[in-house]
Amino acid sequence: MKTPRLPIALQQAVMRSLRHFLQLASDRLERPFAEPALVYQQRGTAAGTAWLEKWEIRLNPVLLMENQQAFIEEVVPHELAHLLVWKVFGRVPPHGKEWKWMMQEVLGVPARRTHQFEIASVRAATFPYRCGCQQHHLTVRRHNRVLRGESEYRCVRCKNLLKPGDYSPA
Ligand SMILES: [Zn+2]
Ligand SMILES: [Zn+2]
Repeated sequence: MKTPRLPIALQQAVMRSLRHFLQLASDRLERPFAEPALVYQQRGTAAGTAWLEKWEIRLNPVLLMENQQAFIEEVVPHELAHLLVWKVFGRVPPHGKEWKWMMQEVLGVPARRTHQFEIASVRAATFPYRCGCQQHHLTVRRHNRVLRGESEYRCVRCKNLLKPGDYSPA
């Protein structure tokens, strides 16, 4: 999976969002908070993660590119709220009442636990294969090995060789 090159304007918009919500928290809680580090290294299907001790927010660059507005309005405050809750309350359940309060009352954002993004582009690609009894999904790596004639794969159930294509029961 390739990491997209993020446009500078988008990175700036994310940074503005972070600073906006950070300022809101400082004003409303009447205490300063250090600016968390923002890195674009989140992989897999998660939109982002908050690293408490490191005071760091990791964002998924693939999902950010595809869901820019949602990241700026929701994902950034969501992850920031995790950091702020840790700083203010210590270790508490990640999406518990303290986090909901931080989101809704302090940051003024609806407290949704997860983000509904189309994750097709970050899910590992697989290729359909069939045997005598069921559908199989080979990884890109295995699929390429089959194409190059380096490997064959057999179904552990029916012992037949896997062939490219969709399985259709006879
Ligand atoms: Zn969360
Ligand atoms: Zn089989």
